[in-house]
Amino acid sequence: MKKMEADVIVVAAGPAGLAAAITAGENDLKAIVFEKANTTGGAANMGMGPLGIGTKIQKRGFYEITKEKAYDIHMKYTHYRVDADLVQTYFEKSADTIEWLEDMGVEFAGSFKYFAESEATWHIVKPENGIIGPRAAGPMVKIMTEKVRELGGEIYLETPVHDLIMEDGKAVGVLATDKNGEEIEARAKAVVVATGGFGTNAEMIKEEFGLDLWQNFFPFMVPGTAGEGLKMMWKAGAQKFGANIEMIYQLKDNMNYFLLDAVLRQPNLLINQNGDRFMNEDQMGNTTFTGNAINLQPGKYAYCIMDDAILKYYKKNGPDIFDIVHPEEAFMAVEPEFERAVADGYDGYIEADTVEELAEKLGIDPEKLQETIDDYNDMCDENFDSQFNKNPKFMHPITGKGKYRVGKFYIAAYGTIGGVRTNKFGEVMDCNDMPIPGLYSAGSDCNTIYGDSYNFTLPGNTMGFAINSGRMAGEAIADYIDSL
Ligand SMILES: Cc1cc2nc3c(=O)[nH]c(=O)nc-3n(C[C@H](O)[C@H](O)[C@H](O)COP(=O)(O)OP(=O)(O)OC[C@H]3O[C@@H](n4cnc5c(N)ncnc54)[C@H](O)[C@@H]3O)c2cc1C
Repeated sequence: MKKMEADVIVVAAGPAGLAAAITAGENDLKAIVFEKANTTGGAANMGMGPLGIGTKIQKRGFYEITKEKAYDIHMKYTHYRVDADLVQTYFEKSADTIEWLEDMGVEFAGSFKYFAESEATWHIVKPENGIIGPRAAGPMVKIMTEKVRELGGEIYLETPVHDLIMEDGKAVGVLATDKNGEEIEARAKAVVVATGGFGTNAEMIKEEFGLDLWQNFFPFMVPGTAGEGLKMMWKAGAQKFGANIEMIYQLKDNMNYFLLDAVLRQPNLLINQNGDRFMNEDQMGNTTFTGNAINLQPGKYAYCIMDDAILKYYKKNGPDIFDIVHPEEAFMAVEPEFERAVADGYDGYIEADTVEELAEKLGIDPEKLQETIDDYNDMCDENFDSQFNKNPKFMHPITGKGKYRVGKFYIAAYGTIGGVRTNKFGEVMDCNDMPIPGLYSAGSDCNTIYGDSYNFTLPGNTMGFAINSGRMAGEAIADYIDSL
């Protein structure tokens, strides 16, 4: 058994763990970080950037959002079912955190909205290849990792932590296994657990949410996020609290059919397996709202139907719903992707020449499908959606000209959030709502600030929470250690 000692042990090197370790270093505390994967950054390697409210970047772009406004939006959105003090502390800190990252050398491309109805809180990291899109946040991870080391922190990769050491009700260290299989006992005055939730753990997903991974739920898989940190904290007496999924909707195997996903998610005729419309499609830019609505449909999926006439319209005029993740260029490049999907036998995409053929492929009664399309087209003719009041600008009749092109969208998630309860100091609460001494959490393991649904109207929110809560925990630990 290898023995190690530090002031603070940080379990995992995602953005939350890295932020906590840097903050420990800034407070002259020695941090040891154990990371299960062979690289740092966790889900942030796939993402684009964190939330900031009231930043200089926003002011330079003539965009203003105050923390009071953001707080008001967020608390009304969540019906005050979340810890208001945790929310306001995070939002209050978020502008300083953007500058803190900039001081380290992180550059941002600007502050962005995710979709039209959202706020421009999303501080997207300037990507190495200059193209704003998935994985843009990579350089931030690199810089934060270097900063941990520069401040004297040690990072051990491929070294999963499997237990906490508790003595007299206090967290005083962890047990880990190094990459050669050797056991490590690492002791410290405080431990931060930031293992990113349980998005890859099929059993826990079934148990907590009743969802069947790869059957009716097709999330992003962030390697390593298997719920180990939560299990350790629960075993140590942490209160089980607020676990949820960060709900979105997407095609199966989304990364492999990314252009199809981008093109087919426009606000066209969205129906369920019964052939019925079920929501106002002009909300499809809000991937959480749409995911929630799809979640209520039979099988938890929906078909979004367009045709080549609509595709032509988008090529000429741009899409109805713009967003940064699914770029406009996709519309120009999608045709070979339709062919590839058919050649692959990919069942997330369906095409047909007639309504009868489409009905057969979708397993919907042809008369019912025809009726739904006819009703929809009548509303398009009248330029008025009498059922859901969709924006008339988005009402394009479905004629099948060229071909019918359909995406089968499932509910999905960026990952899970929540599981333990923390306060604004990152202290993990026991079942009596009392902090467990020495035990802290940050990031998705303890992100309980959205209530029932992720707040996409303030984008950058989960990475923002991860980095800010990591800092908040690091600062609180410095005070805690001071008081010992
Ligand atoms: C495709 C995608 C795009 C995204 N884009 C954005 C975005 O642009 N903006 C935004 O706000 N959010 C985004 N998110 C979400 C955001 O990246 C996460 O909320 C954030 O990374 C969570 O940080 P974390 O540190 O809590 O956990 P994670 O980033 O999930 O990291 C957890 C780490 O814990 C490690 N680990 C797990 N178990 C152990 C163990 N037993 N011992 C040691 N280590 C362990 C894992 O290997 C992993 O490295 C995106 C997510 C995805 C999947």
